[in-house]
Amino acid sequence: MAKKKMWGGREFWGFGSEHDPDWILTEKQKKIQADLIEVCRVKIRPQAIICDRKYEFPRESLNALAEIGLLGLLVPEELGGLGENHVCCSMVCETLARYGCPSTAMVYTMHIGAVANLLFRHHNSRRIKELLSRLDKDKLVGTLSYSDPVTGGHFWFPMSSKVQYVDKETIQLLKFGSWCTSAGNADWYVVQTISPDYGGDYSNLSCFLIYKDEVRANTDDWQALGMHGNMSGPLVIEGKFNLDRMIGPPGDGRMSNDETVDPYFLICTASVWNGISLACLDVAKMHVTRKTHADMGMRVCDYPTIQDYFGDCTADTNSSRAFTFMMCQALDTNTNNNDWSLYTDLKFQARAQLFHWLFQTKFIAAKNVSTVSDTMLHACGGTGYKIELGLERLLRDAKAGWVMGPSNEVIRQIVGKFVLLGPESIDFWDQHPNERMIHHELQKMNLSEKKKLVKALLEDVQAEERGAEAKHPFQETDFENPFNTCPPAVNDQVIKTNDGVNHAPALKPDQWVPLTLQSNKLVSEKMGAFVFSLPNKTDHSGCLPGQYVAAKVTVQGKEHLRYFSPVSCPDDFGHIDLVLRFETQGVMSCYFKTLRPGDKVDFQGPCGGFEYEANQLDELTLLASGGGVTPAVQLIRSILTNNQDKTKITLLYFSENYNEILFREELDQYAESEKRLRLVYTLGEAPENWDGEEGFIDTHMIARHIAKPNGIRHKIVMCGGPSMSMSCLHSLRSLGFPSSCIFIYGQCGSELVKAVYGKNVQLATHRCDNVV
Ligand SMILES: Cc1cc2nc3c(=O)[nH]c(=O)nc-3n(C[C@H](O)[C@H](O)[C@H](O)COP(=O)(O)OP(=O)(O)OC[C@H]3O[C@@H](n4cnc5c(N)ncnc54)[C@H](O)[C@@H]3O)c2cc1C
Repeated sequence: MAKKKMWGGREFWGFGSEHDPDWILTEKQKKIQADLIEVCRVKIRPQAIICDRKYEFPRESLNALAEIGLLGLLVPEELGGLGENHVCCSMVCETLARYGCPSTAMVYTMHIGAVANLLFRHHNSRRIKELLSRLDKDKLVGTLSYSDPVTGGHFWFPMSSKVQYVDKETIQLLKFGSWCTSAGNADWYVVQTISPDYGGDYSNLSCFLIYKDEVRANTDDWQALGMHGNMSGPLVIEGKFNLDRMIGPPGDGRMSNDETVDPYFLICTASVWNGISLACLDVAKMHVTRKTHADMGMRVCDYPTIQDYFGDCTADTNSSRAFTFMMCQALDTNTNNNDWSLYTDLKFQARAQLFHWLFQTKFIAAKNVSTVSDTMLHACGGTGYKIELGLERLLRDAKAGWVMGPSNEVIRQIVGKFVLLGPESIDFWDQHPNERMIHHELQKMNLSEKKKLVKALLEDVQAEERGAEAKHPFQETDFENPFNTCPPAVNDQVIKTNDGVNHAPALKPDQWVPLTLQSNKLVSEKMGAFVFSLPNKTDHSGCLPGQYVAAKVTVQGKEHLRYFSPVSCPDDFGHIDLVLRFETQGVMSCYFKTLRPGDKVDFQGPCGGFEYEANQLDELTLLASGGGVTPAVQLIRSILTNNQDKTKITLLYFSENYNEILFREELDQYAESEKRLRLVYTLGEAPENWDGEEGFIDTHMIARHIAKPNGIRHKIVMCGGPSMSMSCLHSLRSLGFPSSCIFIYGQCGSELVKAVYGKNVQLATHRCDNVV
């Protein structure tokens, strides 16, 4: 007779202990589980409802986990952890999702993946050992920033990242992350980027340890169907770091994926989906065994249909659990019960050979939870649809299982390919051409199409054969300004105006100049405008239109740097104007929020950007999104205030909604009075009777508003995030615009151009000419 399962002082309402495969747990693990269930009962389960309702990060629940040592579950005992194995880890994730909170369980999953990544290469790192030994004591939650805005669910492909050595001890790093669980809330991050010497090979990966105050993120942007406590959001990491932040040697990222992040993520996430399935079954059992239909004299559970539902879902859920636990046991066997000392041999691999099995655990568990949560809703009827029962929340949380990377479609592809074509066919980094497909597609072409293709291919071959010399050497070395063919130009001239006044340059490219805040105000809910006085009322900024500047602040003894494209023109004498999108997590953003008129901030510039010169172009197209419109505004102001400048401008500007269009009144006025400006707004959420465009900038929209390439001097300048740039690049290419006319603000611009146009293409320059 199985032991009665208790929930505090009363019998547990769900499935009894006879359905728990306790025989796989050690006595120590059974105690861990019992302690965890109690913490779930007292703290985490009530908190789950609050986190869901208020979109709150489950910090209190995570603190409760730290109090019973679970943040250091995998950390060896000599470093102060519990030194536990894969089976235990799976049990903890399942238990947490089942009895406590799915959002917390998912945050914990990402924490475990990040801890495993550190343990993999902790042996020679004082920094890592120190962090691992403090996880529970100081309640330090970690997470994984792998997903990239332009590669979606292919989280192993960090295309919007960049790394370079500054000197023997310092590394410069840029990472645009997307979908990072706990973004802005975690205390530390394991971040995957390309390696410093990646040379175009995206399988050459490295990982870095980054702390909370080094991340820019918005903690209040997360709105989703479920997992409301998850706070999965975009983040930016940018700066110079000591080399000891690199986890393992350069290029170790691929191995750490195979050995730590993938296996742990897959078994933990499978366990979370299994836990949610069990939670749905528990709640539904409680309801159907209590609810009676007076007319029939039967409880809901007495109907054979309902018994059939439960039989089906129980068998499938237990199959999924058995599969996950079996794979955990296999991992424990291969790693000598999770002995991290095996990895002092940098070549040692124990988990990678099981990867196809591990992918299947996630697939089965995510597929099952989707069916189980739906079926249990059907079993509970209208009561299940209401919030009170708790099933509705579980159902929403469960839906994340299928779509979270690797999504179930992606896994099916991977497993199917492996089975049919062998592991080498999987080609995670898109490196091996499918010759069968190429030959088939070629047969569809007529002679002239073939000739066109041959010509393009030959040009590509010639460019590749010319090698590095074809590219401008400066473009290869400038981290910040990938389109630059020479250092940024500096407008260091004294300008004499008609009134006889001399205007000297205020900023220097290599020296910090303190500027005083003259005024600041909110321009939208999340955007602030700041006017800084230049040292003299007559000063010009020292930049060219389109260039950006750097601001530096010191917070708690640490310097922080951020780049800004001013919206004022270089010859707006006596001041520079900035617009900043406030982030909830980000030292600079928080610092700027506290600034009051009279405060000083150090500036330096110009630091780079597009260098506009009047009448060098016939047309300038500006594709902008959200707060990224700032360089476009500066360029428009500079051009339209110069009556001698004949350049025509088109601004195609995406904004989430009408109220968030920045500088709308001014832009509208320009558009009304100026033939040189064509203004097109496109809105994510359009008001009634809106006659502008709707939705993201796409191929049809570009075709409608921008003249096809026709031999004129035309530059297309993009200012938005990586995903906007990527999608516009695809559109521009399909419309026949050459890569050499496209300039993108942001450090990853050239990588994005190469990803769309090919690695040997001619890049635009940072000037109005198109000559590389
Ligand atoms: C709650 C939640 C938490 C997350 N937490 C993290 C985190 O902590 N860290 C992190 O790095 N990421 C995290 N992610 C991100 C996740 O791993 C994926 O990157 C993300 O879900 C991808 O979303 P997308 O819109 O870009 O989908 P896309 O990748 O654009 O997918 C769209 C559709 O295309 C399909 N598809 C994509 N590729 C293929 C293919 N090759 N073959 C067939 N079909 C394909 C997909 O299955 C899907 O149906 C999280 C996601 C969620 C939902």
